[in-house]
Amino acid sequence: PMNDSIPVTRNLLRSMPLPHPGDSADKDGRGRVLVIGGSVEVPGAVLLAGTAALRAGAGKLQMATCRSVAPHLGLAVPEALVLGLQETAEGGIAPDCVDMLCERAARSTAVLIGPGMMDKLAVADLTGALIAGLDGEGGPVLVIDAEALMGLDNANEALCRRGGRTIITPHAGEMAGLSGVSREEVEADPPAAARRVADLHKVIVVLKGACTHIATPDGHMWAYDGGNVGLATSGSGDTLAGVIAGLAARGADPAQAAIWGVHLHGEAGNRLARRGPLGFLARELLAQVPEIMAELSA
Ligand code: AMP
Ligand code: MG
Repeated sequence: PMNDSIPVTRNLLRSMPLPHPGDSADKDGRGRVLVIGGSVEVPGAVLLAGTAALRAGAGKLQMATCRSVAPHLGLAVPEALVLGLQETAEGGIAPDCVDMLCERAARSTAVLIGPGMMDKLAVADLTGALIAGLDGEGGPVLVIDAEALMGLDNANEALCRRGGRTIITPHAGEMAGLSGVSREEVEADPPAAARRVADLHKVIVVLKGACTHIATPDGHMWAYDGGNVGLATSGSGDTLAGVIAGLAARGADPAQAAIWGVHLHGEAGNRLARRGPLGFLARELLAQVPEIMAELSA
């Protein structure tokens, strides 16, 4: 099946250039991103993802996180508007804020949910309700990562209605969890695992690993194996999800956002690896992104 995949290369990206804002665009016109995530135990993942979305060229950033984290997040990311949400006893986001989040989401061009979320039951509730509460085809592009991926089970109908405007970014372990198979089974044939879930839920699947496989519900497959093992580091996936959301917000088609995002993330890692193959930080990937994007757009 791997042989049916199109390799993600610089030339491929150059053949699908990113949309550019007009010279007179304002920040709303450049794309509004809403990142929902974080917990008392993992407060910084939304910082990584939100900043990544801005680095990918989105114009405006809103982040929604649990109440006790919000003021700290707002000072750590002074560019963003930060919403403090009611907190569960476990230090996660309470699901009863979903109506307010759906309203915010409807006014966004891309929404990312998942980074740093902890309280399993609350996350599944919130994610399911958010997906169900979003407008179908007209709504924002939705990116689902990390713990929020476990909320897909009961959302099949709503996901199918969204007609491919949803991107999920699991690693092999999360893929196993969300599709009810073992990790070994996923790793035995990753493209097939990605294909299955893309078909089932009508979502774009970005199955991450040393080689990352992208599958769309209309049957296309891409593979990227150009990164390096230094990318296997805490927070790395949060930055990828943020870049993808940022690209979608500025008007990239969802599949294009996934393909470009995976390549930008890998290439950012490759640039940092020149100064040392191990030990670079996920947050350091972010500042690499604008220059790589510009080179690929020249
Ligand atoms: P996460 O597990 O969510 O933090 O995501 C890890 C990110 O690092 C994904 O984008 C993976 O594709 C990437 N990654 C993990 N391991 C490797 C590896 N050995 N080589 C290249 N990229 C990797
Ligand atoms: Mg992750």
